[in-house]
Amino acid sequence: MPEATPTPASPAKAAKPAAAAPSGPRRAMERLGLIRPIDLALHLPLRYEDETRLVRLRDARPGDTVQFEATVSDSRVEVRRRRQLLVSLRDDDGQTVLLRFLHFYPSHQKTLSEGRRVRVRGELKGGLFGREMVHPTFKAVEPDTPLAAALTPVYPAGAGLPQAYLRKAIEAALPRAPLHELLPHGCVPAGLPPLREALTLLHHPPPSVPQQQLQEHTHPAWQRLKFEELLAQQLSQLQSKALRAQHRAPELRGRGLVERLLAALPFALTGAQQRVAEEIATDLGQAQPMHRLLQGDVGSGKTVVAALAAAVCIDAGWQCALMAPTELLAEQHLRKLVGWLEPLGVRVAWITGSVKGKKREGLLADAASGEAQLVVGTHAVIEDKVQFDRLGLAIVDEQHRFGVAQRLALRRKLAERGLEPHLLMMSATPIPRTLAMSYYADLDVSTLDELPPGRSPIVTKVFGMGKRDEVIERIAHEIDAGKQVYWVCPLIEESEESDLQAATVTHAELADLLGPERVGLLHGRLKADEKAAVMARFSANELPLLVATTVIEVGVDVPNATLMVIEHAERFGLAQLHQLRGRVGRGAQASVCVLLYSGPLSESGRERLKAMAETTDGFEIARRDLAIRGPGEFMGHRQSGADLLRFADLQDDAPLLVAARAQAPALLREHPQAAQAHVQRWLGGKAELLKA
Ligand code: ADP
Ligand code: MG
Repeated sequence: MPEATPTPASPAKAAKPAAAAPSGPRRAMERLGLIRPIDLALHLPLRYEDETRLVRLRDARPGDTVQFEATVSDSRVEVRRRRQLLVSLRDDDGQTVLLRFLHFYPSHQKTLSEGRRVRVRGELKGGLFGREMVHPTFKAVEPDTPLAAALTPVYPAGAGLPQAYLRKAIEAALPRAPLHELLPHGCVPAGLPPLREALTLLHHPPPSVPQQQLQEHTHPAWQRLKFEELLAQQLSQLQSKALRAQHRAPELRGRGLVERLLAALPFALTGAQQRVAEEIATDLGQAQPMHRLLQGDVGSGKTVVAALAAAVCIDAGWQCALMAPTELLAEQHLRKLVGWLEPLGVRVAWITGSVKGKKREGLLADAASGEAQLVVGTHAVIEDKVQFDRLGLAIVDEQHRFGVAQRLALRRKLAERGLEPHLLMMSATPIPRTLAMSYYADLDVSTLDELPPGRSPIVTKVFGMGKRDEVIERIAHEIDAGKQVYWVCPLIEESEESDLQAATVTHAELADLLGPERVGLLHGRLKADEKAAVMARFSANELPLLVATTVIEVGVDVPNATLMVIEHAERFGLAQLHQLRGRVGRGAQASVCVLLYSGPLSESGRERLKAMAETTDGFEIARRDLAIRGPGEFMGHRQSGADLLRFADLQDDAPLLVAARAQAPALLREHPQAAQAHVQRWLGGKAELLKA
C-alpha cells in the first residue's frame, strides 16, 4: 500500500518518505551491508503482509491483522488526553469499526472524510465500544482498484531506513543481481527451484504459497537457499582439507613400545579404545599430517589413548608434545603418562611456567636436542618457549578446536625440515553429529562411545539452598565412611556485586564444622606448587574434603571421590556442569552429585539443571546444550563458522546438510570452477576464516 501512513513524531514534521534526503536511507542500507545487488537480493523478508485479499469485518476476530474496504461514516478530531483523529467506517454488510490516529496530517483527514471509500489494513481490536484499529494503513480506493498480486515483504531494517525505500531498492536490485545457476544439473536436491526463482518467490510470494512454509523457512525456495549456503561451507572445508593434504608429515610407525605399554597397563582396553587407537595409528603412519579430534565423554579413558599415540611416535624415533590448557591438567597427565611410559624407558620433560632457572634451561635444552621424547606442558609454554629437534606429534587436550595461530606456530617448529607434525585434539565435550559434519568437514573425528567397565552411574540431585545444612550433614557421614568429597564454588573471592559464596568463605565455614585438618582449598590464585600440593594430598586420601573453584573442571582423577556438591549450580553452563560432575563416578563405588541452586531460576537455568538431573550421557548433554544455546554460542568462539550460516539452521536442516556433504566432493572434483565460483559467491572473503 504505497500511501501507507507514516507515524511521524509530530504532526509538524509532515514529510512523506519520498521527500527524505536520499543519502540517509542509503547510508542506513550500507550499515546493514546492503551494497551490491546480490547483498540486497539476499536480504530476505522477516515476514509478509497479505494485501492480496479483502476480508469482511463480520468474519474477522479481534487480534487478526486484516484488510477490508469500507466507507467513512464520520470523521472528527477530539481532544481527550491528547488530540486525536477518530474515524468511523461502515462496510457493505453494515459492520462498523473505529479508526484512531494519535498522529495525523491534514492529508489524512482529507482522505478519511465522510463518504470516502477506503481500503484499510491493520490489527483489529475488540474495544469496549466495538471494533477499533489504532494507526492502520489506509488508502482511498475506487471500486476497481486492484489488490496486490503477491504478499508484501517486511524486511529487517534499522533506524532511518523506511520499508518503502528498502522495498524499492530490493525490487530494483533483484533483476541485476548475478544469480545465474552455477551448480551443475543433479547437484541440487530434486524439487528445489533455481536460485533466481527461489529468491524472486521469497521476496514476492504469490498468495497461494502457504504462509507457514514461509514463516518456518521450510518452503522449497528456502531450502534451495539453505542448501546453497551449506554447500558453500562444505566446499570451503574440503578445499582447506585438500590444502592441508599437500603438507608433509613424518610417517610414524612404532609398534614395540605400544605392545610393552599395553602389557604394562593395569587394565585391558575397551573395544572403543582399541578401535580409536587403531584409527590414530593408521593416520600416524601416513605422510600427510593427521588432523583428528578424539572425543569421548568424561571418564571414557582418553588419556591412555593419548599415551598409545605418544608411544607410536616415540617408538618411531620422534618427539611428542602433550599440551593441556592449565598447569593442573598438565600435571595430571604427567603423573599418568609418566607412570605408564617412564618405566618403559621414555624420557619425559615437564615444562610449565612454574619450572624456573637452571632446571628449566636444562629441560628446554633436552627438548631442543631431542633428548626429551615426551614434552608435557601448557599450550602457552610449549608454543612460545619450546624448540624441538623432531616433533612428530602434538596432542592437545580439552580443546575443541586448536586455533589457527596455534597450528601455524606448531608448523614453524618443524619448518626447517619442511614437515608438519601430526595433530591429535582431545575433547570431553562431544560435538553433536550435525555440528561435527558441518564445521569439521576438514577434521577426522574418533569417538569413544563406551565407558570402561565397572563404573556405577552417578545419581544427580537438585536442591534449593534451603537444603544446604542437610547436605553438609551428609558430607560428614561420607567422610566418616572413608569417602572423599568435592565442594565446588563459583568464585574465588566475594565481590560486592554478587551474592556468590566465595570458596574462601565456604572453606572457612566447612573447616569450622568438619575440622580444619579435613578440608582443603584449591583455587586459581594459588601458586602452581601450592595447587599441586593440595591435589597430591587429596589424591593420597589425606584430605577427605576439597573445596574448589572450577580449576578442577577437567582432568582431575581421584576415583575414591564419590560425592560432589556444586554450589550455585545455576550459574554454570551445562557443559561445565557435566565436566565437573565427571570428577566423581570414576571408581567402582556409587557416586552422587548434588546441585545446589538459589532461585528464582531463569528459563535456561531451569533447563540446564533439568538436563543434568535427567541424563549423564555426554552426547545427550551436548545435544541439549545445543538446543538451549544455539550452535554459535555452543562453539564458544567466533571463528567456528557458526556466524557464516545466515540461512541454514544446523538442528533443523540436517537433511540438507547431509545432501550438501554428499555433493561437495564430486563437485570439487568434476566442476572445480563452478565450485570455486559458488564458494566465492557465498563466502567471499570469509572463506579464509575456515582455512588453516
Ligand atoms: P578422560 O577420557 O575423562 O580423560 P581418563 O583417561 O582420565 O578419562 O580415564 C578415566 C579413568 O579410567 C582413569 O582412572 C583411567 O586410568 C581409567 N581407565 C581408562 N581406560 C580404562 C579401561 N579400559 N579399563 C579400566 N579403567 C580404565
Ligand atoms: Mg582427560
